[in-house]
Order: sequence, then structure tokens, then C-alpha cells
Amino acid sequence: MKKIVKFGGSSLASAEQFKKVGAIIKADDTRVYVVPSAPGKRFKEDTKVTDMLLHVYQTAADGKNIDNEMAAIKARYDEIIEGLELDFSLDAEFEEIKANLIAEPEVDYAASRGEFLNGKIMAAYLGVPFIDAAEVIFFNEEGALNTYKTDKILAARLAECERAVIPGFYGLGKNGKVKTFSRGGSDVTGSIVARAAKADVYENWTDVSGFLITDPRIVDNPKGIRYITYRELRELSYMGASVLHEDAIFPVRKAGIPINIKNTNKPEDEGTWIVESTGQKQDYVITGIAGKKDFCTVFITKAMMNAEIGFCRKVLQAFEENEISIEHMPSGIDTMTVVVHADEFMNKEQSVVSAIHRLVEPDSVEIESGLALIAVVGRGMKSASGTASKVFTALSNKGINIRMIDQGSSELNIIIGVKNSDFDNAIKAIYDTFIS
Ligand code: ADP
Ligand code: ASP
Ligand code: MG
Repeated sequence: MKKIVKFGGSSLASAEQFKKVGAIIKADDTRVYVVPSAPGKRFKEDTKVTDMLLHVYQTAADGKNIDNEMAAIKARYDEIIEGLELDFSLDAEFEEIKANLIAEPEVDYAASRGEFLNGKIMAAYLGVPFIDAAEVIFFNEEGALNTYKTDKILAARLAECERAVIPGFYGLGKNGKVKTFSRGGSDVTGSIVARAAKADVYENWTDVSGFLITDPRIVDNPKGIRYITYRELRELSYMGASVLHEDAIFPVRKAGIPINIKNTNKPEDEGTWIVESTGQKQDYVITGIAGKKDFCTVFITKAMMNAEIGFCRKVLQAFEENEISIEHMPSGIDTMTVVVHADEFMNKEQSVVSAIHRLVEPDSVEIESGLALIAVVGRGMKSASGTASKVFTALSNKGINIRMIDQGSSELNIIIGVKNSDFDNAIKAIYDTFIS
């Protein structure tokens, strides 16, 4: 039995949290490889070290003095080192990082140092080797993970170490410079390490007792999910359930390694199991609800569009020409709606509209902004009838107007669009109707 353990920022925000993590690792000697994040928030108004580093990068890039900002970051680490009573110092590392940031400020390098430094402390604390992620995780020219090279080199390196600490969030770019994943990317590192190590379990330790049916910042005390499939989780994390980075599924999914989300502050809780497939009886018809705000819809009408060969392709071309990715595309006989992210779309909207006119000569094109999308996800929906109507009734009972509906062909999810301002109330209404 071999487990990979990844600890999130709040699990490593202070010496006190580090001690909990140490106890968790020591409690089970199959927890052999540790992937730490950078220190996160110690309290609500605190700043994550990664955000402090991004700020230092900006200061350095502006050619200003970074002494004070670097000292504030170093104080965060020194507090941890002292609290753990380690005979260990990061002075040399800080000197080097500072010199590098002044000589050549690089944003990914700066951001990645949070994990790098925390990994050094973790390795010293546990007394195990430190493996720099830039030596074992590689990106390709497109900036995506180079799976083949990473797997090969990382597996060989892990085979040399019975135990090790591998910092999360970064690797080496094709240009030979440090490159990070997107925010929250230590989850991805954990998954990559789990696959390379052929682990039995990938434990992802955070500050909640697993995946909850919905965001606890919207619904008070939502119930937990015991089992969720990779596919369901992918839908939910893509739609904003931020517990696990949306890309963290891929490496372990291929290898069939289950992920167990657990709470560093309540290690005895079972947490959530993310698995390929399960026969476990479900508590509810739906597995989870997640959503995101700030989408736009482009509503196109043209009589008999469904009889016009190539119509959809040409509409999509208008978006492609403007390098805008499409989120959803529900359509009717004479109508088609294209849902896009507002931030990608807004400064190109007129260019897209004119391209649509040029390509398909529609009767009308209407744009609406301020749309929120909510995904109701569940493997149980396939075998339960009336799920969609239950969602609609719940919303209409609260006077919430549904602007768009898209039922995924997988029968795994229903996506509904509501106004941004109805977002929280819509999620509450759906939660209340399915979960009692
Ligand atoms: P870490 O720093 O450990 O990686 P994150 O902050 O990335 O932790 O993820 C955990 C947080 O995700 C929780 O504290 C919670 O606020 C938030 N969250 C959002 N949606 C959900 C959900 N469906 N279930 C549980 N937590 C959720
Ligand atoms: N420290 C990085 C972030 O804040 C990565 C992570 O926590 O997973 O985004
Ligand atoms: Mg996270």
C-alpha cells in the first residue's frame, strides 16, 4: 500500500497546522510522498503567500525595491520554522530568490517559490529528501503537461526514494524556466505524483471534510458527498466547485487511482472518495450543485436554420475567428444560443456579431450579459424520472426566471442559466428541494 498526500495552503499556513500535518503523516507509514502547497491564509483577512509573491513580482517588474515585501514573506516562513523548533534556515534560498527576481523578474518563478520554500521546510521537518518539481515535472511547447516525459523521469526519481517531499504547483517549461499550473494547481501535482508512483490512493487534505453537495459559502452547512465519480467531479469542479483543481482528475483517472478528500483539522472524518465507478447506494438523486457567474448569451434567430446545412459550423466559425471558446450551445428549430464567458467575449462582441452576419445572414442577433450557470450533477439522474421538472419547480416557486436550459447528452447533468443576481438563491432552492 502506497499513498500520496497533498496538503493545501490552509493546512500549512502556520506551525500549528504543520504539526497537524506531521501527525497525519506519521500516523500511517504508507503515506510516503508528500506534496505541499504554499502557506495559505491563517485567518479570513490574511494573505496567501502565493499572492504576496505575485505582488513582489509586480514590484520587481516595475523596477522598485522589494526588500520590505520579501522580508514580510520570509517572516511567514520563519514563524513556521521557529514554531516547529527546527534547526534549519531558508536565508540562502531567500537571498537567491531575491537576486533572481531583481535580475530577471518572472511571474511563474515568483509564484512557484511559495511551494518550493514550504517543501524545503516540510522535508526538513519530516527528515526526508526534497525533490524539486522543476527536475521531474515537464511542460511541452503548448504549455500543457508533458505526460510521457514527466511520468518517466518522475517515476525513476521516486523509485530512488522511499519517501520524499515534492512541492506542488510548478514544473519546468519547455524554455528551461519554471512554469506553474493555474491557481490551485498543487492538486494537479499530487495527481501526477500519484500516477508516477503507482499509488493506491491519492489523499488530498484540505480544510473541509470532503466534497460537499454545494459551496458552503452559499448554503449553510451543506451535507457531504461520500462517493463521487471522476466524471461527476469533473462537471462540478469545472463549474466552480473549487475544492479540487479541475485538471487534477486526469492523471489519476487514467490509472484508476481513487482520490480521498480529507480534512486536516478533522482527520478522523472519512471525507469524500472520488472513484471511477461505484455501486454504493446514493443518499440523494443528485450528487452535487455548482455554478459560475458572468456568462453572456448570443441569441441567433433565422427562420428554418435547422434546414440549412453548415449553419452551426458557420456560427461557430464566427467565434473561432475571434478566439473565443464556447461554453454551451442549446438550439431550437429557428433559434440558437451560444453561451460564452463574459471576460473573453465583451471586448470582441461587435466583431463576433459582424462575423455572424457575414457568415449566416441571420434574422437577428441578441446579446445578453449577466448570466450565471448552475450545474446540477448526478449519476443517479439517469434512472430517476422528473429530476429536471423538480429543478424547474423549485426555481419557479422562488420566482426565479430560468434564462437557459441545457441537458447534457451524458444524462449526468442539467445546466440552467439564471441572472447573476439570482445565483445564490437558485442554488439554495435546488439544494432544498433535493436534500432533506
Ligand atoms: P486548499 O487550500 O486546501 O487547496 P481550497 O481553498 O482550494 O483548499 O479548497 C477548499 C475550499 O473549497 C473549502 O474551504 C470551501 O470553501 C470551498 N468549496 C467550494 N465548493 C465546495 C464544495 N462543493 N464542497 C466543499 N468545499 C467547497
Ligand atoms: N499556492 C498556489 C495557489 O495559491 C497553488 C495551490 O495552492 O494549489 O494557487
Ligand atoms: Mg486548492
